[in-house]
Amino acid sequence: MIKLVLQDRDLAALADHAAACWPEEACALLVGQEGPGGERRVLRVEVSRNIAEDRTRFFEIDPGLRIRLERELRGQEHCIIGVWHSHPGGPAAPSDADARMVIERQFIWLISAVQDGKVVETNAFSPSPTYGFDPTTLTIITGD
Ligand SMILES: [Zn+2]
Repeated sequence: MIKLVLQDRDLAALADHAAACWPEEACALLVGQEGPGGERRVLRVEVSRNIAEDRTRFFEIDPGLRIRLERELRGQEHCIIGVWHSHPGGPAAPSDADARMVIERQFIWLISAVQDGKVVETNAFSPSPTYGFDPTTLTIITGD
């Protein structure tokens, strides 16, 4: 099973962004690298504007952020390894809309459930080879 390693300070940054965007969905890109045994390690998070039309129900990463990041990371060991978004008032699990949005099947999806502006649960998922998602182990570590 794929394993995602996230530093607690990055999770805190995502939670702050989820709070700032409440009651709308918040989103971010995860920058990191692939380690041994299919482990993906997040080295930093880049919060994004949500450019979706209906931000209470959907999210869409700012393509400008993505282009800027890809340019910056070109030739480096790190790359965009996944995407995070929040579900205000919803579960920390992918919705049908999320399953329909999957383009890059190698991306990890990190999803936070938000209640009253506070992140209450965060889970990781990997797009399955066909459709939908497979659960992914999420390990939170204390950053340096
Ligand atoms: Zn969603």
